[in-house]
Amino acid sequence: MTDTTAGRVTRTVTRLADGRELIYFDDEPGAGPRPPDTRPLPPSRPVVELRHDVLHDEWVTVTTHRNTRTFLPDAAACPLCPSRDGRRSEIPADDYDVVVFENRFPSFAAGAADELDPVDGEALFARRPGAGRCEVVCFSSDHAASLGSLPPRRIRTVIEAWADRTAELSALPAVEQVFCFENRGEEIGVTLHHPHGQIYAYPFVPPRTRQVLASLERAGGRDLFGEVLAAERRAGTRIVVDGEHWTAFVPAAARWPVQLHLYPRRHVAGFPGLREEERAELAELYPMLLRACDAYYDDDAPLPYVAAWRQAPRGADGVYRLHLELFSIRRAPGRLKYLAGSESGMAAWINDVAPEQVAERLREVVAKMH
Ligand SMILES: [Zn+2]
Repeated sequence: MTDTTAGRVTRTVTRLADGRELIYFDDEPGAGPRPPDTRPLPPSRPVVELRHDVLHDEWVTVTTHRNTRTFLPDAAACPLCPSRDGRRSEIPADDYDVVVFENRFPSFAAGAADELDPVDGEALFARRPGAGRCEVVCFSSDHAASLGSLPPRRIRTVIEAWADRTAELSALPAVEQVFCFENRGEEIGVTLHHPHGQIYAYPFVPPRTRQVLASLERAGGRDLFGEVLAAERRAGTRIVVDGEHWTAFVPAAARWPVQLHLYPRRHVAGFPGLREEERAELAELYPMLLRACDAYYDDDAPLPYVAAWRQAPRGADGVYRLHLELFSIRRAPGRLKYLAGSESGMAAWINDVAPEQVAERLREVVAKMH
């Protein structure tokens, strides 16, 4: 067990009974030693492989162990609640602030075979091990909390955890891009209600990142992210909040019924590069935006969303800017947008809501919150 004080948090590294790493990030120092994991777990041996789709030039991850993972347990059996009253969860301590641990059912994991033969011996069907890493980030020990309901101090600890994990996972030789994200709501496919997010350290550059890199290359060294931000601020019609260090806006070509982007004003490649004042403002702004999203529809139902924090992949720190893409599949109270023929079949998006209208509604709910 090692204790280090990294910036504004106290970080304690431990191991679970099956060898997976678990790290506590505390708002304040002095939590004391953490109890060991005494569960009789067999060693973690994930089975993950990547198969190459030669026509689309994309890697598809095939995991056969994930179908057995925990599905919507009730609060008493929640694996992300602390271990209390004789019940042992994934977190051995009886309380915590923020905790990060390796996923028991990962989509990528180190320790797989060094190489794999092509599928059926056919050279066209290349296959390789799903090296990389998947981590779970618990935002709070309170099962009923949500990220948007947490105080800025705690959001700050979450930001520090994201920065810490990004720096460490980016340094792994197999990893090409580190993706911090939160799936929120059963409609999105969340299998656990406890407030948590995930971190995927991909062993390849995912398709949407490659699209952006190709656009940046075509732009021949121009700062496209900076130009988009400047154009949005000039237009003003889709700006939701313009802070001192961050700007939140609905993009001009939004593809989802509710979509919100958050850019740092200055070029920053990822969480580790954020300055003190940028982290501080983000810790105030982010939960406020999440609460605004929950108030978007007058239906008293929390908005199902995906919050995708995109950071520069390996080698692209100078051109790819950290930013949030948050989107929801709810298109009206009680109604969902399904990815049907055009979106699923062709990746061509059709949005029935004007982005300017979405921005106006978000500004309205933000104004009511002050
Ligand atoms: Zn829980």
